[in-house]
Amino acid sequence: MSRLLVAILGDVDLPADTDFLADKVKVQSPSDALALLAHPPTPHSFISCLVVSMSNLPEPEAISLFRQARAEKRVFIVAHYPAGTLRVLSRASCVRAGCNMVTETALAIRHALHRIMQPPTEGARHRCPVCELGPFHAAELWHHMGLYHSSAPCEIAAICPLCHRSTGIVDHIRREHLPPDMPEDSRAHPPLLYAFGLVMVRRSDGRFLLVQERLDEGFWLPGGHVDPAESPIAGAAREVLEEAGIEVNITGLLQVNYSPSPRHVRVRFILYGTPKNEQQCPKEVPDFESSGAVWATLEEIRELGRANLLRGDEPLQWAGYISRGGNIGNIQILSNEGAPPPPI
Ligand SMILES: [Zn+2]
Ligand SMILES: [Zn+2]
Repeated sequence: MSRLLVAILGDVDLPADTDFLADKVKVQSPSDALALLAHPPTPHSFISCLVVSMSNLPEPEAISLFRQARAEKRVFIVAHYPAGTLRVLSRASCVRAGCNMVTETALAIRHALHRIMQPPTEGARHRCPVCELGPFHAAELWHHMGLYHSSAPCEIAAICPLCHRSTGIVDHIRREHLPPDMPEDSRAHPPLLYAFGLVMVRRSDGRFLLVQERLDEGFWLPGGHVDPAESPIAGAAREVLEEAGIEVNITGLLQVNYSPSPRHVRVRFILYGTPKNEQQCPKEVPDFESSGAVWATLEEIRELGRANLLRGDEPLQWAGYISRGGNIGNIQILSNEGAPPPPI
């Protein structure tokens, strides 16, 4: 197992146990660092890691060093800021200039060195198409890509050593060559999303709108499946009209229920609304949507519950909550992506 060669510019105290991993070479200036990268101490060695302390080096000089050092693709470049001094814009500049890692802690560098120092494994034969490091097994290449190249300022086109496709290699490896022991990337295989909107509609006399479900399933809140091109509010209002025959203004959000499972995700919005026209009659002619609908008092809903005529507890829970003056959330919390924050 060959040791790592780590060049250090400035004051960085790496934990003592990194002595077992790496030979450390102190350099005095950015030009010394670049000279060492170009001409390592022995002909067959190379600098595995360049650690630059930002404590005394002006940032523009460091950025210039990172840009030039990046010409050596195999080196893992670390910008080390003293604790509490790293600014967001500095982090962005360093990464854009080619740094692999920006940190305030020597422990993080130690962790990275352990990751870099992968002992060679039997039968590994894939070289990284970006930096030529390796050889790796497929899973090792996946981990290497994440460590070394996922921060690169732009995607890199290359031929995949595993499947020989020509592609944006970093994201390709991430998605297509996931090691079997890693949890599946949900972006590569997104789960199906089912969105439902249920509406607690309350009339000014305190009655709540209930749907009598078809096939004798009992009474429940009007609402249903949100279609793919609909907003939850539009979908829920459409379902209230179809199931209960009432045009509704949806004005509040009571709860969002999120039910994850490996292949399907169900999201349910419990909404609050009032009828657009208090005189409008609930639906009475049955169809596949429902048998009909009714305005019910809280006491009547309780009676339905006692008689086992509710499809679920939701009407009882939410009618009770609203009747007790429970808080009704601002409907603007539920918005399309890109909407501004609600007014203060
Ligand atoms: Zn690489
Ligand atoms: Zn591939």
